[in-house]
Amino acid sequence: MKCYQEHGPAPRRASCAVQVGPVAIGGAAPIAVQSMTNTDTADVAATVQQVAALARAGSELVRVTVNNIEAAAAVPVIRDRLEAMGINVPLVGDFHFNGHRLLTQHPGCAEALAKLRINPGNVGRGARRDEQFATLIEFACRYGKPVRIGVNWGSLDPELLARMMDENARLPEPRDAAVVTRQALVASALESAQQAERLGLPHDRIVLSCKVSGVQDLIAVYRELAARCDYALHLGLTEAGMGSKGIVASAAALSVLLQEGIGDTLRISLTPEPGGDRTREVVVAQEILQTMGLRSFTPMVIACPGCGRTTSTFFQELADRIQSWLRAQMPLWRSRYPGVENLRVAVMGCVVNGPGESKHANVGISLPGSGENPVAPVYVDGVKTVTLKGGDIAAEFQKIVEQYVIGHYSKDTAAGENKPVRDAAHA
Ligand code: SF4
Repeated sequence: MKCYQEHGPAPRRASCAVQVGPVAIGGAAPIAVQSMTNTDTADVAATVQQVAALARAGSELVRVTVNNIEAAAAVPVIRDRLEAMGINVPLVGDFHFNGHRLLTQHPGCAEALAKLRINPGNVGRGARRDEQFATLIEFACRYGKPVRIGVNWGSLDPELLARMMDENARLPEPRDAAVVTRQALVASALESAQQAERLGLPHDRIVLSCKVSGVQDLIAVYRELAARCDYALHLGLTEAGMGSKGIVASAAALSVLLQEGIGDTLRISLTPEPGGDRTREVVVAQEILQTMGLRSFTPMVIACPGCGRTTSTFFQELADRIQSWLRAQMPLWRSRYPGVENLRVAVMGCVVNGPGESKHANVGISLPGSGENPVAPVYVDGVKTVTLKGGDIAAEFQKIVEQYVIGHYSKDTAAGENKPVRDAAHA
């Protein structure tokens, strides 16, 4: 395999750009972040609230379940209410089993959506499968909507899998069943895409995904898919799980693919803790892309892990305070201070690595460790500018960061003074 260690990520695989409302997926467009609601779509107020929260967190497309007639009827109302709030994030409708019926009864749902997601394994069986698939594609064509053909390991078309298993069994040296299943996932996506094109859906209105829950399976499936077509690809590890397991598994799988230039949009399928914040999946998706240097979304805080030299929690609290504050500013800062998402702030626990790491950041503070003088030198663009002490270190440091942002990223700041944008990987 080719080694990219010295050169960063491989160039993005060439893919056909798909326009989804105001957002482009694939081609030269930045890798888009998606999310999905977990409200009852028929509950308009709750769904509007969650879509708005996901959009404000940075989700560039939001998918909603369309599972019954009440949900289909609610979609245009949700779209109108979001527009009234000034939120124009594209809505994607997720259809399984009965999408053909729902859209026939509520064509306004198709009109209000920016994209349809169709799972070829859940469209129907036998002859009805083709008929119902055709109905969905006809709605997409009639309203000019793109379609994601989203295959999932948990709902793979059983007839296709059985056919491929039978063919495999007749080979002189049959392949492993897991290999055949992976091939069936890819075949399901590609055959359905070709069928959609035969029905009139343009090539540049198709996005593909083949989600599985195993990291190595996902990497193998997407490598195969990427090699066999130029459709834009939606990445995601399905049923990634809860907490750190879900984050780590998603990051492990997607990072390998992104490093190889595979992937045009992604969603992190985290299971939220009871009462947990749904926007977490958006933050994790952004952090994967930003830490890989593929896109920037919000200023990053570099903080050391702490050790026996940090006997108080002050530096952890300061790091958390600065990161939360920076993220909270972004809805306003994004337009007011272009390029601020590239800002790097360091909050370090002691003199061992503190000054060095702080000098690498745009703004950094090296807090006093155990036994050190209770003073905190601050570095701005590598130069020590002030030493803070006393009880107001946190507020004073936050003020210094804010002044840096105003001074370096205001729209009237000379362009050359803005920090470089590390976005070349998908340029
Ligand atoms: S910078 Fe200091 S406090 Fe932080 S981990 Fe290193 S030695 Fe420990």
